[in-house]
Amino acid sequence: MEPKTKRHLAILGSTGSIGTQALEVVKSHPEKFEIEVLTAQNNADLLIAQAIEFQPNCVVIANETLYEKVKLALANQPIKVYTGNAAIADVVQMTDIDMVLTAMVGYSGLLPTIKAIEAGKTIALANKETLVVAGELITKLAYEKGINILPVDSEHSAIFQCLVGEFHNPIEKIILTASGGPFRGKKRDELLHVTKAQALKHPNWEMGAKITIDSASLMNKGLEVIEAKWLFALKPEQIEVIVHPQSIVHSLVQFKDGSMKAQMGLPDMKLPIQYAIGFPNRLTSDFERFNFLNYPHLTFEKPDTETFRNLDLAYEALKAGGNKACILNAANEIAVDAFLKDKIKFLDIAKINEKTMNACSFVSKPKLEDYQNTDKEARKVAEEFVNKT
Ligand code: MG
Repeated sequence: MEPKTKRHLAILGSTGSIGTQALEVVKSHPEKFEIEVLTAQNNADLLIAQAIEFQPNCVVIANETLYEKVKLALANQPIKVYTGNAAIADVVQMTDIDMVLTAMVGYSGLLPTIKAIEAGKTIALANKETLVVAGELITKLAYEKGINILPVDSEHSAIFQCLVGEFHNPIEKIILTASGGPFRGKKRDELLHVTKAQALKHPNWEMGAKITIDSASLMNKGLEVIEAKWLFALKPEQIEVIVHPQSIVHSLVQFKDGSMKAQMGLPDMKLPIQYAIGFPNRLTSDFERFNFLNYPHLTFEKPDTETFRNLDLAYEALKAGGNKACILNAANEIAVDAFLKDKIKFLDIAKINEKTMNACSFVSKPKLEDYQNTDKEARKVAEEFVNKT
């Protein structure tokens, strides 16, 4: 057998914001990467184009009604075509895959991530909801299997980069930076009638719709607090959030001696993606470089948790443990979806999250099945609150 010099990747959610940027990174380093698997939920046209360009071993289109279309378009290609969510959980276990980049949206990332870890694949984790929903189960499984979960989320990538070479030095605390999103500085009365278009206009980062709304509501930072707890084995009180509107300092670690390390750069998701899929090596890039003279003022301020309730809800969920964060995540997925469909107002998102957290049954030591049941129950409860709004 020839020695394997390239890293073989499966990209789950290849047509989304992270997926397409990951493929750009792969394209700039053809000598480093080989694509084994691409998967998409609904975007059949882009999946077909990506498959023809990158020639993976197989593709999965999750939406079964689009299977024939993809199958037909790739009929003359040596590429296998599968459909359905179960197929995604199957293909990640293929022998040739070294690393799975999980870039799908929301709860749907959970099962494929578990299957990939069970099959011994390194995870490049862009789907933070997986750790929010079932962080304890996932990290335990990864530990047992001896596999790495490499963060793609820019803040967690920053912390991870600060920790390289420091793995035996205890962390005093970490500080996650938040841009504050498009509504930073606004109070509740100013947010009563903000529109979907306004919420989707993020000042610094180019991202998918769900995470952009989460950024506007500070839920994204809340989810990231929970994600950080599991990735870096921290207590809630060791995780702080500071608003940093320029998004240049991507996060910081403070060690036991009081020394702090930060990772900086222009806000470009391709950098953390490239760091994760290239780890432990830093690959070259022609991304625009940061220039201090363009940013003479880097500023920091306290998050406004009275206006943006979601951040406190995340801490509450983290402290409660069990299935609380799973409930919060499901409620938020429903609420954001309802907001994007103009069924509820912006401030209703946090209200629905809070009410759902209080209404659902608490399980202190959940297993996979409990998480699955919790997710179902919380979605149903949140839907009811949406309909009553
Ligand atoms: Mg982030």
